[in-house]
Amino acid sequence: MTELIVATKNAGKVKEIREILSAAEVEVKCLEDLPDTYALIEDGRTFEENAAKKAIPVSRVYPRVWTAGEDSGLEVDALDGAPGIFSKRYSGADATDQKNNEKLLAALRGLPPQQRTARYRCCVVLARAGRAVKVCEGVLEGVIAVSPQGNGGFGYDPIFSLPEYGKTIAQLSSAEKNAVSHRGRAFEKVRDFLQGSGGRQEIRGKE
Ligand code: IMP
Repeated sequence: MTELIVATKNAGKVKEIREILSAAEVEVKCLEDLPDTYALIEDGRTFEENAAKKAIPVSRVYPRVWTAGEDSGLEVDALDGAPGIFSKRYSGADATDQKNNEKLLAALRGLPPQQRTARYRCCVVLARAGRAVKVCEGVLEGVIAVSPQGNGGFGYDPIFSLPEYGKTIAQLSSAEKNAVSHRGRAFEKVRDFLQGSGGRQEIRGKE
């Protein structure tokens, strides 16, 4: 069984990542499972920089295990790609998912569906012994709804709709979300890496 530390404190992400990797021989540990505490500093200019900043410090402490840093967010075309890397705190320092969604709906009020296009982007950096080794990305295209629908998922899911399903992500089951999501796509690449050359590096590391 390959061990993977995911350097995140976001319970919604951890639940999804465990589900996505459930059929693979990968045991996922998150920061809550580790004895020490880490400050996650997200002052990079891109998803990749932030993902690396999450993964690298933890991988120094656990040099024989793969650590994944994950950074993700929502890019809205009508807002020139905002909120992007600032998705978590879009509505300010005391942001909540609900406040973020309300702010975004207000920013797009009155825009027709063809001007409400957006995408979720997920970037995963796999680090080993303080070094970024592999980058895996996933994207999910969608449209910002005019009002929230559904209770599943987290973050912007109640207002991120998939025209081909006629539903928001929050109206999908977690299995349906994971099959198409940015995170699902990125972590499928992580799984393939760990089962391929990444797994071989791990075996070498144990020799
Ligand atoms: P961070 O990667 O911890 O900086 O936070 C990513 C933020 O992007 C989350 O707090 C959400 O607001 C948003 N986000 C990322 N992925 C998803 C998703 O799958 N559903 C809904 N919101 C997401």
